Amino acid sequence: MKVYFDTLEVSTSKRVELINITRQVEEAVGKSGVKDGICLVFAPHATAAVIANEDERGLKEDIVEWLEENFPHDGKWRHNLVDDNASAHLASAFTSSCRVFPVKGGELVRGTWQSIFLVEMDGPRRRKVIVEVLGD
Ligand code: ZN
Repeated sequence: MKVYFDTLEVSTSKRVELINITRQVEEAVGKSGVKDGICLVFAPHATAAVIANEDERGLKEDIVEWLEENFPHDGKWRHNLVDDNASAHLASAFTSSCRVFPVKGGELVRGTWQSIFLVEMDGPRRRKVIVEVLGD
């Protein structure tokens, strides 16, 4: 079994935003040489997440708005007494920092309307996204 490990560098420009990383993930799958297996996409951060969904401007705005409404930045969170980003931690905890995709025939398997996004929740900053591909 092959194990391929790659780290993507992603710069974000807003406090909360979605960054499409599909191309970079698919490039990593190509470089891995894995034909059949799985691809883990993992953000090693407590205030970011990884999701798969449609890259449509209105939907991306809906997702950002949903996160901001459900995890308000100025909420009465205890963690804000420490470093003022509790909303980002909560949003990350309830969104998930990783997703797994099948790899078939050397290609990442995803739905037509599934792009892969890093979800920034405490930006702007530089983020890492780990792509690990396992298989034969
Ligand atoms: Zn914090």
